[in-house]
Amino acid sequence: MASKERELRVKPINNGTVIDHIEAGQALNVLKILGIGGHTRHVVSVLMNVPSGAMVAKDVVKVEDRELEPEEVDTIALIAPRATINIIRNYEVVEKFRVAMPRNVIGIIRCGNPNCISNSNEPVSSRFVVESMDPVLLRCSYCEFVLDKNIADHLL
Ligand SMILES: [Zn+2]
Repeated sequence: MASKERELRVKPINNGTVIDHIEAGQALNVLKILGIGGHTRHVVSVLMNVPSGAMVAKDVVKVEDRELEPEEVDTIALIAPRATINIIRNYEVVEKFRVAMPRNVIGIIRCGNPNCISNSNEPVSSRFVVESMDPVLLRCSYCEFVLDKNIADHLL
């Protein structure tokens, strides 16, 4: 039985993206960033709390037949800075890289200041400067509001 379980867990995908080394508990937020909800047409596998030597436990997301946009990869870095992206084509890993923190985060995170112009009806996208990567510290470019925790709760 053990070998069957193992087979299910590591089943390779033909084409698509494997996002590995996601901080345990962040897999659903990664899906949110990717716009994957209940109505997706892609085959999506989500593994949570997979034992992992370096991180104790990790989450893994596999999306078949889809490769990620650079902006999506940047956003994942905000909530899972150690995540690695594996691009799979024809069962081969053709590209493998770690997510990288962007310098600016535009239109993805809601400012925590309700009076900020980016929260008004004005056609203004939210805009943050990444001031620190570890720990993550974002500063709103309009009102100077600092966002340094629960980043995932502020995803637009
Ligand atoms: Zn603001």
